[in-house]
Amino acid sequence: MLNINVLIYFVEIVVFILFFLIYSVVCLLKKKRVIPKVFGIGFLALFLTLIGTFLLERPSMDFKNVGVIEVKSGEKLKVPNTFYHFQNIDDKVKIVGYIDYNEIGEYDIVFEVDTFTGKYSKKHVAKVVDTKAPEISLEQGEEFNQSYSKEYQEPGFKAIDLYDGDITSNVKTEKQEIDDTHFNIKYTVSDSSGNKSEKIRKVTIVDDVPPEITLNGIETMYVSPNTPYEEKGATAIDEKDGDLSDKIVTEGTVDTSVEGEYVITYKVSDSKGNEATKQRKVIVQTLVAIQAQDGTNGGKGVIYLTFDDGPSSNITPQILDILKEKNVKATFFILNYNSVGEDLVKREVAEGHTVGIHGYSHDYKQIYQSETAYMNNITSLQQKILASTGYNSTITRFPGGSSNTVSKFNPGIMTRLCKLVLDSGYKYFDWNVSSGDAGGVTDSEQLYQNVINGLSKSRANVVLMHDFSSNTKVVEALPRIIDYGIQNGYTFSNITMSTPMVTHSPNN
Ligand code: ZN
Repeated sequence: MLNINVLIYFVEIVVFILFFLIYSVVCLLKKKRVIPKVFGIGFLALFLTLIGTFLLERPSMDFKNVGVIEVKSGEKLKVPNTFYHFQNIDDKVKIVGYIDYNEIGEYDIVFEVDTFTGKYSKKHVAKVVDTKAPEISLEQGEEFNQSYSKEYQEPGFKAIDLYDGDITSNVKTEKQEIDDTHFNIKYTVSDSSGNKSEKIRKVTIVDDVPPEITLNGIETMYVSPNTPYEEKGATAIDEKDGDLSDKIVTEGTVDTSVEGEYVITYKVSDSKGNEATKQRKVIVQTLVAIQAQDGTNGGKGVIYLTFDDGPSSNITPQILDILKEKNVKATFFILNYNSVGEDLVKREVAEGHTVGIHGYSHDYKQIYQSETAYMNNITSLQQKILASTGYNSTITRFPGGSSNTVSKFNPGIMTRLCKLVLDSGYKYFDWNVSSGDAGGVTDSEQLYQNVINGLSKSRANVVLMHDFSSNTKVVEALPRIIDYGIQNGYTFSNITMSTPMVTHSPNN
């Protein structure tokens, strides 16, 4: 209520009272009741001044509460506190002029009020401003766990300003190292009015990587009924804790007296509680037996026809047809095969031939890089043959033969593998009669001559031929080779686990 108008009234009334007191004192002293002329004029002047003040009073406007308007906030301009004749008349004050409350700027407006003594107006500059800082939000929270095994990948953030909208692209990030297992990411951004925001993401580096379990032996094992199952165990390595093999818990049993599928589960946790699990499937079933045969035939000579690098969709069926017609069993050292090849492998088994393992791959650089690589190359194909046919092949032939020199990039590998293959329960066969069909020979006549010239009655003759897809020569020569053998008293047989091994000496 206290404003300049009220003050003026107050001063006038005080003067009036003082004047009356002075008048009273003067009257007392002079013992007169008559108003001297000077006082009459005085009272009249004061009275007129009061009337005049009342009539001429202008509304008083107090702009303190008007302030500035926050852009896009829904706020509207307030009128100033306005007093007139001892009354608040804010509700009579009108705003004249245009303000865009969604646009930062200064707007000239007028506050207008109608009073008893006329219309009163006052100019004003209304300011629409942005004082609100943008809002930064962090995806996946302000506390973030980062695996030690990976590089930090920003989980994402957003910066939204009420006035500027999406200003994410203006955000600056800064990494603040704290210690070995903690760092912060600081995000800062300013809007177009210079309002600044900041946010911190606290990153903790954690171990969330489970140990790695590696099974000793193969993952799917076939065991004949009533033979003991030997648990080969597993190893576990954790990047942080090291070797945890002795902490592996093994669950499950195999009863080889009952045919069926058994699962052995290997579990281990690292010191941070990250658990790893691995399973081995053990299948107890009767396997197709590999026929045992004598390899020497009492000195009359045996011919073991072997075909490498198949199956092929064009040559292998023709060879099988010829063998069937002549009632001869042979041995196929195969490579990885597709669905067409699978039917041929099944046919080889069904028609009594031996399916031997040449290898999943024939790539020397790959398979001879290590013992593990080589063993994987034969066990993976062994498992595939088993899955396709139920036939558990343990007869192998080294790509290039055991005497190859293509493996010399890995010194001594063949010497080591020859022992390892036998120790692992396989037999490997090289050859002592080479048809030359993969190299030197150009026609079937030459192939035929090479074979018959290589045969000897006093031994097991292992004949090297190929059934890869371009080898049409072998299809032409094979009937003649078989006829020659029969006419000359040889016996034909397929290689089995009881066939005496025919091997070269390793050259590496
Ligand atoms: Zn080969």
